Amino acid sequence: MSSTLKASAQELAEFRRDTHAWLAENCPPGARGPGPISNGSTKIVIDDSDTRLWLERMVEKGWTVPAWPTEYGGGGLSKDQYLILLEEMRDIRARPALSSFGTSMIGPTLLEFGTEEQKQRHLTRIARAQAEWCQGYSEPGSGSDLASLRTKAEAHGDHYLINGQKIWTSGAHNADWMFILVRTDPNASKHEGISFMLLPMDQPGVTIKPIRLLSGESPFNETFFDNAVAQKEDLVGELNKGWTVGKRLLQHERSGMESLVAGSAGGGEQGLVAEAKKQLGLQGRKIADAELRSKILRYEMDNKVFRLAQRRAVEESDGGTPGPVTSIFKVYGSELQQDFYDLITQVRGVRGFAAPQEDWVSERERETTSRWLYYRAASIYSGSNEVQRNIIAKRVLGLPDG
Ligand SMILES: Cc1cc2nc3c(=O)[nH]c(=O)nc-3n(C[C@H](O)[C@H](O)[C@H](O)COP(=O)(O)OP(=O)(O)OC[C@H]3O[C@@H](n4cnc5c(N)ncnc54)[C@H](O)[C@@H]3O)c2cc1C
Repeated sequence: MSSTLKASAQELAEFRRDTHAWLAENCPPGARGPGPISNGSTKIVIDDSDTRLWLERMVEKGWTVPAWPTEYGGGGLSKDQYLILLEEMRDIRARPALSSFGTSMIGPTLLEFGTEEQKQRHLTRIARAQAEWCQGYSEPGSGSDLASLRTKAEAHGDHYLINGQKIWTSGAHNADWMFILVRTDPNASKHEGISFMLLPMDQPGVTIKPIRLLSGESPFNETFFDNAVAQKEDLVGELNKGWTVGKRLLQHERSGMESLVAGSAGGGEQGLVAEAKKQLGLQGRKIADAELRSKILRYEMDNKVFRLAQRRAVEESDGGTPGPVTSIFKVYGSELQQDFYDLITQVRGVRGFAAPQEDWVSERERETTSRWLYYRAASIYSGSNEVQRNIIAKRVLGLPDG
């Protein structure tokens, strides 16, 4: 958060009033509730006019990244103002205008580790939805054991030449840039000799091969580097010290702080009780199926507590992302997402199993199975939950490394 001055209660009340009024006037109806959200890619056209208008207005205001400094395209909001904005957005079910690898991962990392030149060059473009990024971490054989990665970068004059392969690169086909972990000293121990670089995707040395899923979709890719070029000015942090930068980025990713904003959309999750009442009928004023009712209640309570814990983490920190404790958010948040889709699948019953072309169910109902399947991956991506439990044991609870 950029503002260090503590605002008075009166100033915050004024900020709330202004924010409320601005949102009421500027958030179009089509940007409220579930719907498309820009990921900043220059290769994806947003068809929905309200979503486009909302993005333009939020960019103008700096509220695509409300807490970033204004000189990098952010809103310059203090922690308290940021939380007020989230509450006001939640009240009108406003979707975030932008949600991307840029805003949630590389942006916060550059704010901490980037040079002034890197911040000037990349952050404003992220804030303005003019560039999307992808993550070049995993390699065949280097997933949980990420530090064993072998893709290498060698210095040549004013640039590095990169050779090797990454895998599971989500959205590489739509990305403009990649942040990548590469080996720059093959003789150093595993965690040393790794560097963190930025790399433009549209260049001859980068080849992207989609990985086709059973569903026919290809959300991720194999990415090959054959003398791909990263400029020396695109090295983030010190040469051979990239492990520290790369780990910090993962903490930003795992914190789920983005979902504090995304939760404001009042998307699927808030509809669970209403939907259960509609689909399963009522016994008095309660959901008729007692067993499902108590599971839904448990989920609603856990979800509420989780959101409050995330919020408390923002309040207790300087507004920045906490450290290894983010692994707790990752485990709990991903299991909650899976619980939600287990429950909504049960609630929708046969209406949750319609094939994509069938029109006897609503669009949201049609998505049930694919979302249920997708969120199976939530306990794997950004580091599997088993690996997060190891981190919690060692780095949060201080248990011996055995
Ligand atoms: C949907 C999705 C999107 C992804 N997007 C990206 C991306 O954009 N960029 C990117 O770089 N990567 C991406 N990944 C890759 C992801 O980071 C890896 O899949 C993850 O880190 C696990 O690595 P792995 O698949 O190699 O499994 P492995 O490391 O082979 O693990 C296999 C199993 O062993 C368990 N295991 C491994 N080590 C331990 C241990 N020490 N203790 C206990 N259990 C252990 C794991 O929990 C897992 O169950 C994505 C993955 C998914 C599913």
